[in-house]
Order: sequence, then C-alpha cells, then structure tokens
Amino acid sequence: MHSISPQQRTIIESLAIGLDADEVAEDLSITELSVISNTQLLAILHAANACYRAGFPIIDDATYDHQYLAELQQRDPTHEFLSLVEPEVTTGKTVTLPQKMLSTDKAYSVTEIEKWVERIRKAAQEINVPESDIQIRITPKLDGYAAFDDGERLYTRGDGVRGQDITRAFTRGMAVAQHGMRGLGPGEIVISKSYFTQHLAEQFENSRNIQAAIIAEKNVEPAVKQAINEQACVFYPFSLLPNWTGSLDEVLSDFSALLEPIWDAVDYDIDGVILETTHPDIKTHMGATRHHHRWQIAFKVNDESAEVEVLNVTPQTSRTGRISPVAELVPTKLSGATISRATVHHYNMVKTNGVGPGAVVQLVRSGLVIPKIEKVLHAVTPQLPETCPSCGSHIIWEADHLICPNKTDCSAQTENTLVHFFKSLGNNDGFGPKVIEKLHQHDM
Ligand SMILES: [Zn+2]
Repeated sequence: MHSISPQQRTIIESLAIGLDADEVAEDLSITELSVISNTQLLAILHAANACYRAGFPIIDDATYDHQYLAELQQRDPTHEFLSLVEPEVTTGKTVTLPQKMLSTDKAYSVTEIEKWVERIRKAAQEINVPESDIQIRITPKLDGYAAFDDGERLYTRGDGVRGQDITRAFTRGMAVAQHGMRGLGPGEIVISKSYFTQHLAEQFENSRNIQAAIIAEKNVEPAVKQAINEQACVFYPFSLLPNWTGSLDEVLSDFSALLEPIWDAVDYDIDGVILETTHPDIKTHMGATRHHHRWQIAFKVNDESAEVEVLNVTPQTSRTGRISPVAELVPTKLSGATISRATVHHYNMVKTNGVGPGAVVQLVRSGLVIPKIEKVLHAVTPQLPETCPSCGSHIIWEADHLICPNKTDCSAQTENTLVHFFKSLGNNDGFGPKVIEKLHQHDM
C-alpha cells in the first residue's frame, strides 16, 4: 500500500472527501486507473492537491498531471475540478478577511498589455482625468504565499473572502521586508532565493515546503526558525516593492526594455510583473470583477528558447572569490528582450562541455527569470582563464569552480562584498556599485 506520513494523514482527514487517509492510500496503489470510480479519482486529486499545497506532496507532479488529472480530463472534460485556480486548501477554521483579496488578470503578450492600456485611457476619459495625471506602477510579481496584514493579525488569502489567521508567523519572529511596518495590507511570504540555495536546498525540495512550515501550527524546524531569524523569510507587502512608475506612453514605447531591471530587482522567486494604475478615481471607476481588479494586470512570459552563438567567455570574480564564467553572446531576442550575455553555471561546465568562441548553446528563458544556458549544442575548445581578472593572482580549482585564493587584496572580492553589504541593508541612497568602485579606488 502507498505509505502516508502523519502530516499527510492529518491533511487528508480534514478534507471531507468521502474517503479516509487509508482508503486514499489504498487507491493510490491501484495502477490500472480505469477500475477506480469517479469518487475515488476525485478524492485522490483533492488529497494530492491539499498535500502538495501544504508542502507534503503525496505523489509527484508528473503523476498528478499525466495520470490522475489526465484521467479526469478524459472522463469529464468539463468537470469543475479542472477549472479551479490552484485552490488553496484551508485545514482549520476560517475568519472573514479585513479586505477582499482578489486574483490578478493575466496577459501573455504585449498586445494584451496595449489593450489594457486602452481600457485605462477610456476609463480616464469617461471621468475627465487628463492623461498627464495617469501613472502606471510596475512591480515584480512575487511567487510566494499570499497573505494580508492588518497590523494586528496576518491572514491567508483562503478563497479571497475568508482566510485563516496565521499571525503566529509574526510571533515566530518573521520580519516585514524592507524594514517595513506592520499593517501594510496585502503581500506575500517569501524566501530569499540565494539563502534557499545556500542553506535550505539540501533539506527542502522547494520553497513551498518552507512557506508551509512558517505558517504551520506545529513547531517550526530549526532550519526554518533560523531562516526567519536571519530575515531570509519575510512578509513582503506589495506597497514596499521596488517599482517603476511612468506614463502610459512610456509603458508602450519600449515595454521589454522597461521590464529588464524589474525581474532582477528582488532576490525572491517571481513569476511575472504586475502593472497597475495608481490614480484613485480611475481605480474606483474601473472597479473589479469577482475575480480581479480591472485596473491591474499581470504580465507573464512563456518559456522560450533559442540557439545562440558564443562570442567569448569572460571570467568575473565574485565576492566569495569564485570566478564566474559569463558567456558573451551574439545578441538574440528571447521573450521580448535582447540577450547578449548569460552566466554559465561554473568553469567545470565550460571545460567539460567545450564553451568558447564559436560554440553554439541553447538559451532558455523561463518566465521572467534570467536566461540560462540549458545545453551546449556545438562544442569548441573551452576558454579557461589562468589568472584572476581582478587581481591577477594565479587561480585554482575547487570542485567545479575556479577560485581566486587572494582573500585579502583582490579588489573584486572587497568591492563586491561592499555592494552585497549595502544591498543587504536594503536601502537605495546612492551606494551603488559605481560609488563603491570610486571609494575603493580612492582607498576609502
Ligand atoms: Zn583576485
């Protein structure tokens, strides 16, 4: 029989799906899906979805999609389960949210954004707001756990009207991002990507598991507790997000170039950008559907890939002394942006896969994340540096990486440490890389 953990058991038993946890486990062991009833099939889907959302997946994604969901699709293509938008499963009692939390309408093309801009224009005309008064704010779309902070309590989004009280996340020491105050309304619980990679990736499969742990009623694992203490897990109110603000014409003039800095603006998972008008009268006039605000839209990009020729591989020394290989590429359009460079994972990949001038690589841009080199299609003699590009020290291999052993007098290492330090302070008052480079040159 399929084995079930105590956590999964608790989740399944709270669902009221007509089957208990042992029955679900028994049904999961049936490999010939045609023999299971509709009730069993739906119970499995509900149970698998709930366990996944809570961070304790009972089956893997592929099995869920390609077997169980596909089976339902085949039996009843119009079944309402298939149209649910990632239903959030609540396992405890719910309370009415201080404010409705709606979903966001989505656009996958610039044409759809243009249409949305037209609707804003039309709404403004209808209430006599001059176009010069209209501002559009663009922010990263965080891919975390949606929540609402009214200053006293923190709530899950639930079904948008009723959610659960998860104030305990703050009681456990979770901070508000950007040293923000409590009570800033809607936001997301997120985990620093770099912290996850460095400290949590071995223990947790993905950041969803950690989000679940932060708000769980039971005790928090030490690793998660530490991530909270080190402010790697935070509540990020939308109002504090780094943003671009400008006119409708500016939005449309070079939309892709405009977005470039936004998807690198935060060290959290993002799955798009959000555009919204800031004018209160236009917002009121446009209003909302039952699903989303009409004055707001999310822009998402589908995966896209391209075959690109490498011009050069340039070494770059990081703060830790690791030398990162940066592939300079023949400029290529990918998901609307022109890509001319991409980081290769490490120098061992450069060496073993033959990345150098003339190599052809497959570049993939998934959503809005930084493009990465997926595979090498045509290998050449690799281009490997012998000395640190910053201080000229002889560099050495350490596992898959080339590193600069000069910890004390390598300016790339000290400068990047300062850049990182000021970035981690989260302020924006002029201590950018350029200023730091200057300070360093002047020995300050
Ligand atoms: Zn160096």
